Amino acid sequence: MIAPRDDLALMEGYHSPQVEVPVRLNTNEAPEPPPAAFEAALVEEIRALDWHRYPDRSYRALRDAIAAQHGVDGDQVFVANGSNEVLQTLCLTYGGPGRAVAVFEPTYALHSHIARITSTGVAVGERAGDLTLDLAEVRRVLADARPALTFLCSPNNPTGMVEDEATVREVLGLAPGLLVVDEAYGQFAPWSALSLVADDVPLVVTRTYSKTWSMAAARLGYLVGPREVVAQLDQVVLPYHLDSMKQAAGRLALGFEPEMRRRVAALVEERGRLVRALADLAVDVWPSGANFVLFRPRQRDGHAVWQHLLDRGVLVRDCSGWPRLAGCLRVTIGTSAEDDAFLAALEDALR
Ligand code: PMP
Repeated sequence: MIAPRDDLALMEGYHSPQVEVPVRLNTNEAPEPPPAAFEAALVEEIRALDWHRYPDRSYRALRDAIAAQHGVDGDQVFVANGSNEVLQTLCLTYGGPGRAVAVFEPTYALHSHIARITSTGVAVGERAGDLTLDLAEVRRVLADARPALTFLCSPNNPTGMVEDEATVREVLGLAPGLLVVDEAYGQFAPWSALSLVADDVPLVVTRTYSKTWSMAAARLGYLVGPREVVAQLDQVVLPYHLDSMKQAAGRLALGFEPEMRRRVAALVEERGRLVRALADLAVDVWPSGANFVLFRPRQRDGHAVWQHLLDRGVLVRDCSGWPRLAGCLRVTIGTSAEDDAFLAALEDALR
């Protein structure tokens, strides 16, 4: 059988096991589906689709609807199949051989993974011991590597920590190419870099329907950025990459924004309850502005705790073997019942 590209040989994929368990808190999905009225509206639209025609290549109605939400122009919005495809299109457009991206670890693993898949170099900076961004390190890495793309993730996955406006502005001033702020969890946080986007600012902010919109199944993500950048991405992405059903789903979902905001507010409150409960247990917890919490058992092996939770039907993310995150686990905020099951199993595991 033919071997893959030489430069793929040493790469590891990105895996989160899809295990059938009663309580699934490992991939930061929303615990509840979108409203029934959304489903009904989507079914109506799908009935009326012209199945023999290609979809609207420029997905005008969808990008205009997203733009209206953020008070920008439709030509400042690029949409793809999940924000992962948005990130990939950025790397295909601005990365490639002889170019680099900069990441500050630990952060979302796909930033460096997608860069490597697209034959883009990866300059790795280290966060401080408490996992906050170290601006001296940012300055050093950006000056050394001169990356085409600099990735920040706010709230950062897997730590949950939010970069404040002053930090993002400072990195924006230092980044030689485009600054990408990945806000997959943006609506859970108190502040958004969307407010800094403008045609003359080399910044893009990525968002997803997967978390706050309860639509991980739809695979929809987007970025907001300068018109010029969006036009370049539109040239690189495959023609008709967004099918007609998806375009309809993305547009119709935005009609249920108050419901989305209610779900997000409920999850933020539930996050507070979970963090307070964790404070009473023998674990270290990082402050989270997202729909998940990173924690580390103080006296017990992280992987053993993960296995104990799984044996009790609770699946969380095992980060215990990841570089810089020795012993850490990440739990997604679920329903109150799911979180209670997690807390009970965790108490048991730590005993
Ligand atoms: N960015 C971050 C930080 C994420 O955590 C995720 C999903 N785990 C994504 C992007 C990708 O999301 P999607 O492709 O589902 O839009």
